[in-house]
Amino acid sequence: MNGLIITIDGPCGSGKSTLCKRLAARLGYIALDTGAMYRAVALAAYRANCDCEDCEQVTKLCGEQRIDFRREAEGERVLLNGEDVSEAIRTPEISLLTSRISSCSGVRRILVRRQQEIGAAGGVVLEGRDTGTVVFPKADVKFFLTADVAERGKRRWLELRARGIAADLESTIAEMQERDRADMNRTDSPLSKADDAVVIDATTLTIEEVLSRMEEIVRVRAAEKGIR
Ligand code: C5P
Repeated sequence: MNGLIITIDGPCGSGKSTLCKRLAARLGYIALDTGAMYRAVALAAYRANCDCEDCEQVTKLCGEQRIDFRREAEGERVLLNGEDVSEAIRTPEISLLTSRISSCSGVRRILVRRQQEIGAAGGVVLEGRDTGTVVFPKADVKFFLTADVAERGKRRWLELRARGIAADLESTIAEMQERDRADMNRTDSPLSKADDAVVIDATTLTIEEVLSRMEEIVRVRAAEKGIR
């Protein structure tokens, strides 16, 4: 075991992605953005003109895709069959499509297996919707990160604007609510809090504050397990 298995789940825009990367960097762990994998499959389905309601078709397509992560100085890149799709997978259109294809059990089976392979040796922080409930139900530390929807919407809107993607605040909030609704109500692996997850409400906390809380909990757990 190279280190702990840490999971961070929660709704859209709760800060999971930033915290996952920052926490992993502090610990010298791998950060795994599981949402990026679902997004890459959605992009592939979109480009292939796939009927996204046809789970069999999307599963077949998913099985044919190669999804990799490449670490670069300015951040992690997501590769779909060797092509850098890091920006293309983050448009509002692909975000909504991702929530649709991610309700397909065949797709989930393929991606969960891949995530388990990547994280099995430990020394990993995973973030998503089901990482502490389905991917690693025996993870060493589980966080459930949440925040008020208006605050989450504002953060996501600022993030989109900073990336040069035109969006208005109201539709950004509405789109996030729609994705949350779909993610919480799907039959297979809905977004839910694991019973043993530590809940952090980040509405009034800065990223630094959340990070410190997380790190403290992780350090205690690592010491208990005799892992440095
Ligand atoms: O986290 P992110 O917003 O990138 O996730 C995009 C979508 O991927 C989510 O709305 C959800 O539908 C899906 N997803 C999932 N399970 C995960 C991670 C993401 O179903 N573990």
